[in-house]
Amino acid sequence: NPRIGVLALQGDVREHELALHDGGADVVKVRRPSELDDVDGLVIPGGESTAIDKLARAFGMMDPLRAKIAQGFPVYGSCAGMILLADRVADPARDGLGQPQQTFGGIDMTVRRNAFGRQVDSFETEVPMPVLSRISGQSSAGDADAVRAVFIRAPWVESIGEGVEILASVPEPHHEGPGSDAGVARIVAVRSGNLLATSFHPEVTGERRIHRLFIDMIRGEA
Ligand code: GLN
Repeated sequence: NPRIGVLALQGDVREHELALHDGGADVVKVRRPSELDDVDGLVIPGGESTAIDKLARAFGMMDPLRAKIAQGFPVYGSCAGMILLADRVADPARDGLGQPQQTFGGIDMTVRRNAFGRQVDSFETEVPMPVLSRISGQSSAGDADAVRAVFIRAPWVESIGEGVEILASVPEPHHEGPGSDAGVARIVAVRSGNLLATSFHPEVTGERRIHRLFIDMIRGEA
């Protein structure tokens, strides 16, 4: 079995551990740089990207993980984890000294934090994701290649560079007031080489195929 770490600094670590375990991986928590060398891949959970960034720097994880990502280390980021895999954040949070939040980066994309959150803090919808038709296991949605996806103060991907594959988009939900772009397609899942990112949380709806896709990527089978 592949051995997969979950970055356990902050966020919904337990849910990802369960999803990876169900997908057939051996799972360990990762907090220290040396632990990165004992795993075949890493999941960055949902939570708060600024908190994970600060703790990663405090634990000396920022540079070692950046270096591993540059060497092709497989990483899946969900929600806050997606933000942390982005090369650019459109509207970064700033600390007390005015310094913008940092990311591990690796995916040539710009993400917007809390993008859906301006209108709807949290919502659930069915997201078509054709790549999943190849992955075995039960769908959390009615449709065989759709995911029942939960968005919680979720980012979207505002732009991508070459080499980044769009795996899923959703129409921006309707909302009242100015600035509404209801119906505009927003990118919510991407893959770039060995890096995978989703705006939403498959780990909370019993969906396991996205974690299986990541495990297949690690095995070199996807
Ligand atoms: N809004 C959070 C952030 O900026 C992400 C929310 C989540 O992971 N559910 O990090």
